Amino acid sequence: MQSGADRDLYFECEACKASLVVDTAAAGMILTCQHCGQPTKVPASSIASPFAGKEIELLGQLKENESQRTEITGYVNQLHIQLHRWQLRLQTLNDRNAELKAELAELGSIAASS
Ligand SMILES: [Zn+2]
Repeated sequence: MQSGADRDLYFECEACKASLVVDTAAAGMILTCQHCGQPTKVPASSIASPFAGKEIELLGQLKENESQRTEITGYVNQLHIQLHRWQLRLQTLNDRNAELKAELAELGSIAASS
């Protein structure tokens, strides 16, 4: 019985030393590193760091975390902009409210004195 992990080949990018994983079918091929974009040679067998699998799993979780952070930050920024627009609108309405009340008060004092 062969698990999926047995078919994974762990190695480091020759340029940036990032931990990479490919299917063993890619052994000996030149691939483009997903981290630095440089071409790097896939070794014939894993360099077998016992932590490579865990590291790649954590890197995957980190990537997912960062993509969610980007998404939520986008929502927060959008709402900040929307909030700012509503605050400006409210300020305009408050100003107009004060003007209208002042006009009413003026009319009232004219009526009282005539
Ligand atoms: Zn690299």
